[in-house]
Amino acid sequence: MKKTVKDVSFKNKTALIRADFNVPIKDGVITSDKRIKESLPTIQYVLNDGGKVILCSHLGRPKDGPDKEFSLEPVAKRLSELLGIKVLFANDDKVTGSIADEMVKEFKNSDDKVLLLQNTRFRKEETKNAGDFAKQLASYADIFVNDAFGTAHRAHSSNVGVCAYLPGVLGLLMEKEVTMLSKVMDNPKKPIVAIFGGAKVSDKIGIITNFINKVDTILIGGAMMFTFLKAQGLQTGKSLTEEDKIDVAKEILAKAKEAGIKFLLPVDVKTAKAYEDTKDFKIKKINNIDSDEMGLDIGPDTMDLFAGEIKKAATVVWNGPMGVFEFENFAQGTLKVAQAIADNKDCFSVVGGGDSASAVKKLGFEKNISHISTGGGASLEFLEGITLPGIEAMSDK
Ligand code: ADP
Ligand code: MG
Repeated sequence: MKKTVKDVSFKNKTALIRADFNVPIKDGVITSDKRIKESLPTIQYVLNDGGKVILCSHLGRPKDGPDKEFSLEPVAKRLSELLGIKVLFANDDKVTGSIADEMVKEFKNSDDKVLLLQNTRFRKEETKNAGDFAKQLASYADIFVNDAFGTAHRAHSSNVGVCAYLPGVLGLLMEKEVTMLSKVMDNPKKPIVAIFGGAKVSDKIGIITNFINKVDTILIGGAMMFTFLKAQGLQTGKSLTEEDKIDVAKEILAKAKEAGIKFLLPVDVKTAKAYEDTKDFKIKKINNIDSDEMGLDIGPDTMDLFAGEIKKAATVVWNGPMGVFEFENFAQGTLKVAQAIADNKDCFSVVGGGDSASAVKKLGFEKNISHISTGGGASLEFLEGITLPGIEAMSDK
C-alpha cells in the first residue's frame, strides 16, 4: 500500500503537487475545466491541513521546448476562480529557472498559498526523466504529491524523478483510481464479465490476456472483433482487420478455451459500404459479410446476447467501444452495453480507456458506472497488471 495525503502532515510544509492540467485550450480559452475541477479536493486538502501548494503539470505536446500556445497561464486564472483565492503563476520558460526560483522564495515568505509553475514539457528533461529538472522541482518543496493518474504509466521528471529527492504520496484523485481499479483486479465479486472493444486488438492483447484467467465471461466487440472472426476463418470484407495479429487472436482464443471461460464474439454486425455515418446500413450475420462491406457496430442479436451476460454479472470491466460510437448510426451497440450495465444496479462496474470513457459520458451513462477512470493509457496498463511507475515511486505505508 502506498501512502496518501492522509498519511502525512502538511502543517507549515510546502507540497509540490503534480496535477493533471492537460486541458483543452483553444485560442487561449479553456474549453473544458473538468480536470482543473478534479484537482481541487487534493489542493484543498493540503491547504486545510496548513500547507502551501506549488503545482506542476504538463499541457499538450510542445515540440521544441517553450511555446506560448502551451502556456499554463489560463489554468492559473481558472484555478484561482475555482479556489476563490489568488493563484500565483511562475511564467518561466525554463519552468524552474531564475524567475521561478525568485517567485518561490517570495511565495514562501508571503501569505499566498498557491503557486503554479509553467508547463513541465517546456523542459526536454521532463519526458526523459534525466538531468537536473527533477532535482530543481523537488528543491521547491518538502513533500511531493502525485495526483496525475493520466501520466502514471510514464516515468517522467515531474512524477517519478522528483521522488529521488522528496518523499512522495498519492493525491486523492490517484487514491480513488487505485482503490477502484484494484477492486476489479484483487478479489472481485463473481461472476465477472469483461467487455473489450475499440479499434485495434494489438492495443488490447495485454489486457485481454490478463483477464482470461480472472473472469467468467469475455465479450468482444469493436473493430477488434474482425481479427478474431478472421482467425476463425470468416470473411470480414472491408472491416478494420489486423492481418498480422490473426495468430495472436488464435492464441487468445485457445487460451480462453483452456481456461474454460465464455469467450463471446458477435453473432451479427451493422455494416456500411464506407466509413461514414449513414442510415443506409445493413445488419449481417457474421458469416455473411460481403467483400465490399465494412462492419461499424455490433448487430441487434449481439446486443441482446451481451446484455444477457451483463445482467448476470457482479463485476463488470469495460474497455473499448462496441462500434464507431462517434457516428450516430453506429453508437447503438455501445449504448446498449452501457444500458445493460446501468440496469444491473447491484454490479460493480469500471470503465477504462479514453474513448470508452468519452463514449459513456456522451451517451449519458456517467452516473450509472461505479468508476470511470480518468486515465486512458494508464488505466489500460493498470488493468493489464503492469506496475505503474507513477504509483510505484511513492512511499510505502
Ligand atoms: P479506448 O480509448 O477506450 O481504449 P480505443 O482507442 O481502443 O478505445 O478504440 C476507440 C475507437 O475504436 C473509437 O474511435 C471507435 O470509433 C473505434 N471503433 C470501434 N469499433 C469500430 C469498428 N467496427 N470499425 C472502426 N473503428 C471502430
Ligand atoms: Mg483510445
